[in-house]
Amino acid sequence: RHAEFVALRDTPAITRDGVRVTVLANAGLVVDLDTLDETGAEGIGLFRTEFQFMVSEELPRLQAQTDLYRRVLDAAGGRPVTFRTLDVGGDKVLPYLEVEREENPALGRRAIRLGLDRPGLLRLQLRALLSAAAGRELRVMFPMIATVDEFRAARALMDAECEWAERRGKTLPASLRVGAMIEAPSLLWHLDALLPLTDFVSIGTNDLFQYMYAADRTNPLVSDRYDPLSPPTLRALQDIQRQCAETETPVSVCGELAGRPLEAMVLLALGYTRLSAPAGGVGPVKRMILSLDLAAARRGVAGLLGAPRPRSAMRWRLWPGS
Ligand code: PEP
Ligand code: MG
Repeated sequence: RHAEFVALRDTPAITRDGVRVTVLANAGLVVDLDTLDETGAEGIGLFRTEFQFMVSEELPRLQAQTDLYRRVLDAAGGRPVTFRTLDVGGDKVLPYLEVEREENPALGRRAIRLGLDRPGLLRLQLRALLSAAAGRELRVMFPMIATVDEFRAARALMDAECEWAERRGKTLPASLRVGAMIEAPSLLWHLDALLPLTDFVSIGTNDLFQYMYAADRTNPLVSDRYDPLSPPTLRALQDIQRQCAETETPVSVCGELAGRPLEAMVLLALGYTRLSAPAGGVGPVKRMILSLDLAAARRGVAGLLGAPRPRSAMRWRLWPGS
């Protein structure tokens, strides 16, 4: 199996009916970089920067952050890398960072909320990213954006850091793209205001579905209760895809969903062409794409979306090649 996926490494992911798909990998640790080439991923669609903070005994300093980001960009060797800013708080506690205890960590001051409340922390990270990507392409996205104002405020911190670097005569990245993660359902009804402010968006389905179904993703009693391929989620994903297409906003899906062949097939049928999967999912998803008749998948998913009675794509598990 593994050998089969390694053999697909340099084969572009194109469906049988000719649709080109970009398959990227999720990463977060230096060891992930060693396996990046083997997976055949075309880049890193989600680099979880909090891992460095979580394995560290003290707040990683500017230099340590810069070094890591530079290593990541070097390892990617010109392939695109999307860095996600610090996603801690809530249940991801950093021992050296003093934060209040919260009753409902998943609904608490996590991710960009903490970053905006502690702008020094976020600015340090943005400074490290800008410096690591001097003269190269830099892509940064903010996690858990729930309001348009949060994105505006986060982007303003990035602008301030760019000005800071410029004033000091530092080399800026050759290009800078700033995006939002779509993880909070509130954004589904405010994409018209958000998308014009972003350079791209990426859908974090793990959190988006947790909040849509009010089911804690870390609690096995409830995390598997909901079908991620039933009409509510399919419609949400379809809406996002349509609005991104209309506004020509690049969009990717980077939750675990994108790394499972059946679910990935449904994403492609909904019109997504950019997926970021856990490293182990890249090969299987590529193999699915190479054997996929996308037009047929589209018809199947359209049927599910229009079904009067809730049906699920899960029954397709038995489909060959899934
Ligand atoms: C997600 O929520 O789907 C996501 C990609 O982010 P994380 O799993 O790190 O919360
Ligand atoms: Mg998330």
